[in-house]
Amino acid sequence: MLQLCHLCAVRQGLHVGSSVVSDGDGCYICRGLMSRLNDIFMLVEDAVKGYEFRSFLIGATLPQDILEREDEVRAKLKIRGLESIKSSITRELGMMLSSKGYRVDYERPEIDIHLDLISMDVNVRARPIYLLARYRKSRRGLKQKGYDNSIESIVRGWIVKEFNARDARFLWIGGEDKDSLVIGEGRPFFIKVLDARKRSGYSERLSSDSDGIDVTIVRKVDGFPRQIRFTSKVRLYLDGDQSIMDRVRDVISKGSISIRFREDGYGRYVVKRMHVIDARYCSEAGVVEVDILVDGGFTLKRFAEGHDVEPNMHDLFGNVRLRYFDVLDVRIC
Ligand SMILES: [Zn+2]
Repeated sequence: MLQLCHLCAVRQGLHVGSSVVSDGDGCYICRGLMSRLNDIFMLVEDAVKGYEFRSFLIGATLPQDILEREDEVRAKLKIRGLESIKSSITRELGMMLSSKGYRVDYERPEIDIHLDLISMDVNVRARPIYLLARYRKSRRGLKQKGYDNSIESIVRGWIVKEFNARDARFLWIGGEDKDSLVIGEGRPFFIKVLDARKRSGYSERLSSDSDGIDVTIVRKVDGFPRQIRFTSKVRLYLDGDQSIMDRVRDVISKGSISIRFREDGYGRYVVKRMHVIDARYCSEAGVVEVDILVDGGFTLKRFAEGHDVEPNMHDLFGNVRLRYFDVLDVRIC
C-alpha cells in the first residue's frame, strides 16, 4: 500500500482521504522531507542573516531518488500531479520568508538563495551592484590598475568594507600614467560590487590623503556599459625651450588634427582626434605645458614615443621629450 504524507498527497491532486496518509518518515516519496520544512527554513533564515535585502528567489537541488519516486508514483497512478516536489518546497519556503516581510522576485531578486537538499547547504548570493564613480589623484606615483599599490586595490578594499562584499570588479574609462595627476572633476569609472551584504547606507566618498586619492560614488547604474565614448583633456609637460612655442602655436591654429595609430602590420589604423587648446612656456622649469583635448583611446605614450603613429609628438612639436602628463578632465559623451 502506497503511503504519502499530507503535502505529497495533496501535490498529486489526490484526495487526502483516498490514499493512506502517513506522517513524516513513512512517506513513500519524500521520506519525511516535507515534514521537516520548518527546520530547513531555519537553515535558510540563518544563511540570509547579515544580508540586507527586500526581494529574493529560492532555488533547490533535490536528491535524485526523491524525484524518481515522485515520477514513479505519478506513472503508476496515471496522474500528472499539480506541482513538482521541488517547486512545492521552494514555494513553501518562499512563503515562510515572505511572511517575515520579504518578497519573491523572479526577475531581479536582491539575493538568490540556493538550497542543496543533498548536503543541506544553503548558498546565498547577492545581486551585483553597479556603480558609476569618479576618482581624483593629487599625488604622483600610484598606478591605476593592479592588485597591489594601485587605485584599484585601494578602491577595492574600501568597497569590500563599505558593502561588506566579497570582491569588486572595475571598468575603467581610459587610464593615465603612474606619474600623472588626475584633477578637475576626476576620471569616471564603473564598479561592480560582488555579493554585497550591505546595499544601502554606505559612504559615498573615500578620501585618502596618504595615498593622494579621493573617490566619489556618483550613482548606482544598471550594469557596465557596453561601449563608452569619451574625451580627455590632458596637460603635457614637455622638456624644451621657448623656440618650441612657435611650432605649438602653429599646431593650435590648425584646430582638430587626426592622429593615425597603426594597429598591425597590415596597414590598418585607428584615427583619434587631437586638439591643442592652449600652451605656455615656464622658463623656471624649462617646460612647455601643452593642453590637449583627445578622443578616448588616444594613447599618449605611443603618441610621445612615436611608434607607428602619424603625425606623432616629434612631427608636431619638434625635438621635445614628454616629462609626464596630467589629466585635467574626462568627459563621457
Ligand atoms: Zn512526503
